[in-house]
Amino acid sequence: MKKIKNLLRSFEIEENIIKTAVPAMEEYMNSILEWNKKVNLTAITSREEFIDKHLADSLMCAGSNEIQNSKTIIDVGTGAGFPGVPLALIFPEKSFLLLDSQNKKIEIIKEEAQKVGIRNAVFIQGRAEDLAGEEDYREKFDICVSRAVAPMAVLLEYCLPFVRTGGNFLAYKGAKWQQELYAAENALDILGGEKIRIDSSNFTKEDTDHVVIYIYKEKETPRKYPRKAGKPSKYPLL
Ligand code: SAM
Repeated sequence: MKKIKNLLRSFEIEENIIKTAVPAMEEYMNSILEWNKKVNLTAITSREEFIDKHLADSLMCAGSNEIQNSKTIIDVGTGAGFPGVPLALIFPEKSFLLLDSQNKKIEIIKEEAQKVGIRNAVFIQGRAEDLAGEEDYREKFDICVSRAVAPMAVLLEYCLPFVRTGGNFLAYKGAKWQQELYAAENALDILGGEKIRIDSSNFTKEDTDHVVIYIYKEKETPRKYPRKAGKPSKYPLL
């Protein structure tokens, strides 16, 4: 976990937060790896890989002004809690909503996150397309993060409706990010987003092609988006 400590120090996270967040992340990792023997939560089974590919990768955006200046963050398709859980641990003063369509995953991560002391997050089972239409959640967040959930054009339709005008969507993407971004230009325009930058600084040893794409929400998303559950992935806004 030394690597995680150093990473957090490089982002100027306070020492008293590092002191509690890092052991909590380790405890959370151990619980998820234990659960993974019974329930399929993640393809990663070793601690080393978990530290690199889940913990360090989730924290890639933690030094950004966008995250540091935000108060409310939603993680769409959080799965086993990434990137939402590591971020909630290092930013205890911010409010997080972790969303996933699978009830079993949400139940497990809620229980384990509470055990490691997370008090600044709520956990909701549901589909992004449904929740983003609800008044309580629509255009209510400073930041939306999402990792490994859908191709960019689909992801924008899931995520941008949650972000307030002037907020940001941070898409964690893998090797095909350039093609995905190219194919999503129309969706970006329709949904009110504007690409601002790509962060390719990389903290993991093996995955050299992970990036975080920062999208600024310039204008409101038209009310008809997201379309009904299932439609964005079946008929992406290309
Ligand atoms: N973000 C996690 C990570 O990077 O480890 C999990 C990635 S997993 C491959 C994708 C997750 O997205 C699954 O847990 C799935 O249930 C969830 N998901 C897919 N489509 C969704 C939707 N429309 N609304 C909410 N969750 C969704």
